[in-house]
Amino acid sequence: MAQNASNTGKVALITGANRGIGFETAKQLGETGITVLVAARSRKTAEETASKLKAQGIDAQPIQLDVTNPADRAAAAKSIAEKFGKLDILINNAGVGSSTGFALVVADVTDEEIQRIFATNFFAVVSLTRELLPLLRKSEAGRIVNLSSILGSLTLHATPGSPIYDFKSLAYDASKSALNAYTIHLAYELKDTPIKVNSAHPGWVKTEMGTDAAPMEIPEGAQTSVALALLGPDGPTGQFMHLGQELPW
Ligand code: NAP
Repeated sequence: MAQNASNTGKVALITGANRGIGFETAKQLGETGITVLVAARSRKTAEETASKLKAQGIDAQPIQLDVTNPADRAAAAKSIAEKFGKLDILINNAGVGSSTGFALVVADVTDEEIQRIFATNFFAVVSLTRELLPLLRKSEAGRIVNLSSILGSLTLHATPGSPIYDFKSLAYDASKSALNAYTIHLAYELKDTPIKVNSAHPGWVKTEMGTDAAPMEIPEGAQTSVALALLGPDGPTGQFMHLGQELPW
């Protein structure tokens, strides 16, 4: 841990941590002295990811976790329970994008596309969080961050002139709107506990999903997730945030 802060005793799980915003989120959280459990679809990729972070002095441990696979989710929860007995931070980062770009013809969006995107961006988040909630309840200050998108904002989609008004991709957008509904419902349920649940819009970020056309670099793209993961006791819950600003649902 030479070049980083000393270990805080906190444990964070980041899904889809092998690249893009997830990798950078794990790096930035790890640099604060948090033990980061880096989840990737394959064991080999998870191990390579943990090795890269360990080489930077971060306490990173690999977890094989395809978020859509029930057996993987159960195994991840079991292993975290056995090793740590709690989970302080869950970053539901893994996500998939549209295969067709911004398809303005809503009738052309197939059932398969909607099911594929919802499987990862919505159903897997609900299932994984359910599996891990008992461990988050054991934390002194559990934090759940759901990686949403400004494209999930129904208010902005319905507002002519908003930055996303002309960028409509039904399956992806609806998956993030559903995820936002989950954030609101779970935050309500947990409002009398120390656990905070928020949706993050990272910005339009240069990743495989965001493409090279995106204006934001990855380090800045991870900042919203990191800030919501590190919220103090007075921080918000049940909100939709981007770089410290609240977004409309
Ligand atoms: P990315 O570079 O495409 O990375 C996506 C990550 O999710 C990869 O690690 C991928 O793993 C993982 N993943 C996908 N399906 C998975 C599954 N079933 N199980 C486990 N891992 C899975 O995307 P990103 O830009 O970093 O996006 C991260 C999050 O931010 C996503 O939820 C995205 O919707 C959201 N977001 C991104 C932007 C942007 O501009 N980039 C904007 C708004 C919101 P593999 O390598 O195995 O595919």
